[in-house]
Amino acid sequence: MKKVLWQEMRRTEIEEAAKADAVVIIPVGSIEQHGNHLPVNTDINCSFSVAKSAAETIDDFPVLVAPSIWGGFSPHHMKYPGTISFRLHTYIDVLADVATSIAAHGFKKIVFLNGHGGNNGIINSMRWKLMNEDNGPSCIGYTYFTLVDEELKAISEVDFTIGHAAEMETSLQLYLQPELVDKGVATWAPGVSGDPTKGTYEKGKRLFEAAVNTVVTLIQDYHSGKLEDALTPKGNFDPYIRKHV
Ligand SMILES: [Zn+2]
Repeated sequence: MKKVLWQEMRRTEIEEAAKADAVVIIPVGSIEQHGNHLPVNTDINCSFSVAKSAAETIDDFPVLVAPSIWGGFSPHHMKYPGTISFRLHTYIDVLADVATSIAAHGFKKIVFLNGHGGNNGIINSMRWKLMNEDNGPSCIGYTYFTLVDEELKAISEVDFTIGHAAEMETSLQLYLQPELVDKGVATWAPGVSGDPTKGTYEKGKRLFEAAVNTVVTLIQDYHSGKLEDALTPKGNFDPYIRKHV
């Protein structure tokens, strides 16, 4: 398997990737309670895993996966044990600093791949500010489960949405890191939105593969310049948002 993780590379390898016009994916998510049955890293594990598989799939140009930004904006989950949340402005600064550092080494295309609903609006505002007010790097931002909304509805039996620690996140975790799931307590509890009892490995595999395929196409389109309109200040035209949200 080819090397895609930024943190495993030497500086010469990173320099080479920048010269070859690599796309860099920054996985973002959260550390927050996911019911009694899922690990607190569920959101960042999902976005990281999709990012890594997508990067490994693309052969035409290099795709690197930056170190995950493990924490997110989760004040609404703080009443449950395990949640670690950034304050809004801290979080905006962290996201912008990571993207700016990556751009400083010559990378021109950066993708924030998000796994936590509470980060959506922040990532979008942050990247507009970065590009239009701070003269920062080009970057796009998507939440993996909004990119596969149609597939999610087709695969789900009861929730028809990603929910929270429910059917589909439980399914993804049963596929991605089953050793951390306590199936015996996978039932509804406060802080869960949806039905975790319906989670299965098979549904998780199908949704994961759909997400990887969509992210592969997204990155290819970004690299080839097809998403340029989405990056301009006047641009409400975003083929992925229009199709998937
Ligand atoms: Zn989640």
